[in-house]
Amino acid sequence: MLSLEDNFTKLQNRIKNACNNASISSNSVQLIAVSKRHSVEKIKTLYSLGQRHFAENYLQEALEKQAALSQLDISWHFIGHIQRNKTRALAEHFDWVHSVDRIQIARRLSEQRPSSMPELNICLQVNIDSEPSKSGFAAEELPEAFGKVNELAGLSVRGLMAIPSATADADQQLASMQKMQALFRALDGPTSFDTLSMGMSRDLEIAVQAGATMLRVGEALFGPRPNP
Ligand SMILES: *Cc1c(COP(=O)(O)O)cnc(C)c1O
Repeated sequence: MLSLEDNFTKLQNRIKNACNNASISSNSVQLIAVSKRHSVEKIKTLYSLGQRHFAENYLQEALEKQAALSQLDISWHFIGHIQRNKTRALAEHFDWVHSVDRIQIARRLSEQRPSSMPELNICLQVNIDSEPSKSGFAAEELPEAFGKVNELAGLSVRGLMAIPSATADADQQLASMQKMQALFRALDGPTSFDTLSMGMSRDLEIAVQAGATMLRVGEALFGPRPNP
């Protein structure tokens, strides 16, 4: 099995090649290391190699890791499904929340973000392939939701996030991601509205081609996730 360091180098090369093929600067794409179910030790290793952005899906697990790693200058991203009663902890402990999937959640994050902290960066999650199993705004709901969320204090609405369907069909993946790009462009946001969060281990090249600015990569970096 390859070491974490080898995986990291390989992944960085994959991203660089994808950017070259899409004729975009690799500075415009940010790697978010999805560390769910992986150890604090592995996060430390990646940190020592220069990685600063980490994403978690499960609140309790994330809070424990944050406590253990409080000396490190990590940007913490939350990408999991959000339960209503978990918003306060998210507002108090994260730099980014990608998975805002209803107005009520944005309102709570806004009210609960401590005024002593910088604005919480959020993305609106879009259910781009209209899958019943996934949460997120429908494409048609987006303009109105965006307008409402944009007015909330304590939040900086940075962009859109999607988890396209797990199809093996590259054309279909590209079509979904291009739809995201079109939705993103259609929203008339401030200059800070600059983030398209999509692309995972299996489809990051396609995501880069479709204009992703944040890639959320777990398995290609850490290897298979241990069972809970
Ligand atoms: C787990 C997860 C990822 C990472 O997926 P990999 O296939 O391991 O790269 C990205 N985004 C979300 C929302 C996830 O839950």
